[in-house]
Amino acid sequence: MKNMVNFRDLETAFKYKSNSELCLTWFVFMILRYPSLSKVIQYFAKVTLKYRLPFKWAIRMTAFRVFCSGENPQEAFATIKLLHNYNVKSVLDYVSEGEINQSAYDENTNKIVENIETILEGTRTDFVSLKITGLEDPEFLKANNKVVISDEMHENVRLVNLLNRVDRICRSAFNNQVMVYIDAEETWMQDIIDSLAEIMMSKYNRNKVVVFNTLQMYRKDRLMYLNRLLEDSKLKEFFPGIKLVRGAYREMESLLAKQEGRENPVFEYKVDTDNAFDEAVRLCLQQHNRVVTCIATHNEESILLALECISSFGIINYYEKVQFSQLFGMSDHLTFNLSSRKYHASKYLPYGEVEKAIPYLIRRAEENTSVDGQIGRELDLINLEIKRRDTTKVK
Ligand SMILES: Cc1cc2nc3c(=O)[nH]c(=O)nc-3n(C[C@H](O)[C@H](O)[C@H](O)COP(=O)(O)OP(=O)(O)OC[C@H]3O[C@@H](n4cnc5c(N)ncnc54)[C@H](O)[C@@H]3O)c2cc1C
Repeated sequence: MKNMVNFRDLETAFKYKSNSELCLTWFVFMILRYPSLSKVIQYFAKVTLKYRLPFKWAIRMTAFRVFCSGENPQEAFATIKLLHNYNVKSVLDYVSEGEINQSAYDENTNKIVENIETILEGTRTDFVSLKITGLEDPEFLKANNKVVISDEMHENVRLVNLLNRVDRICRSAFNNQVMVYIDAEETWMQDIIDSLAEIMMSKYNRNKVVVFNTLQMYRKDRLMYLNRLLEDSKLKEFFPGIKLVRGAYREMESLLAKQEGRENPVFEYKVDTDNAFDEAVRLCLQQHNRVVTCIATHNEESILLALECISSFGIINYYEKVQFSQLFGMSDHLTFNLSSRKYHASKYLPYGEVEKAIPYLIRRAEENTSVDGQIGRELDLINLEIKRRDTTKVK
């Protein structure tokens, strides 16, 4: 293949990190490696959040620095600029979770619109991520999951307000040539999120992709949904933006299905999730003339499959059609080696006040301790890079 990517090129992978930043990352992953220690720290983080205890500085100096891009837009934009130097795109993600009042949702909408419109030192974000749970109460989303959303719907004021918030963000993105990834959540509120995403795609993706919906391929029904969405987009004449992930809420989904005595909506075996993910990658990339796909994963095999598809389906303009994305602080060997070989690669860049980022950090800790081999792989790569830097210094 023309653009072979060497994911073991660690100099390229970690070039953007100073020695001290690399050591801090090593330290944080070392803690995550020990589930019991990680659990104690997660407990302290939850208590800090609940009782506003003064451990904020400890979190800010460690996990926050590794997984978040800053506390305010200025700090986040400095990271965007740094990543641009390495041809890595940015997905600005304003973290604000757990709010339960309408003014906070309006405030979050304003912040995201500001992020889309801001140009700092000539730099603008390339993408924003949009968590619908930051614009409405998850309980309200759950209660209204099956409601048919439409532009003509007037009777439910809260739903109209939600639609208007999402529309404001997508319109601003459309006007400013920024793209929006709408994140996927748990099944009990995903139908309403799918509806909102489809309305926005049919409105703003008429000529090119601005809005993306996220599909969690651990769900048994998502290949069917993908096929339906691809067909619908032809009928309604819009270009689909599809972000593929495996899914972050497996334990919770399985537990709730068991408690409620219904069929588990997610696969029980990882191999089934992997097969569904691969199938979705093939389906989307086959239709590259109409679909822009974001492959959001830390799984090297999935990325290799996408690279193979780019080659076998003859996708010449792959930079526009196929995007790769990883979370800030994770899998730099994938992001930076893809970007160095001229593939479209981005980092999800969460930013926000430390307290508001704690739920996000807890999810990262939980994910890292539960995904087999993830921490070991990150640590091995960091250790090798530390050694490599040491040897080069001695020479
Ligand atoms: C840029 C980016 C954006 C993301 N956005 C979202 C989002 O909007 N919504 C969301 O839910 N998640 C999101 N995620 C998280 C994602 O869903 C995964 O949890 C995470 O990336 C790990 O999966 P993987 O493909 O990277 O790696 P892998 O390590 O190959 O896969 C781990 C994943 O496999 C699945 N899995 C593990 N064990 C089993 C099992 N026994 N049976 C079935 N499935 C299993 C789970 O989904 C688990 O997370 C995002 C991830 C990235 C990198």
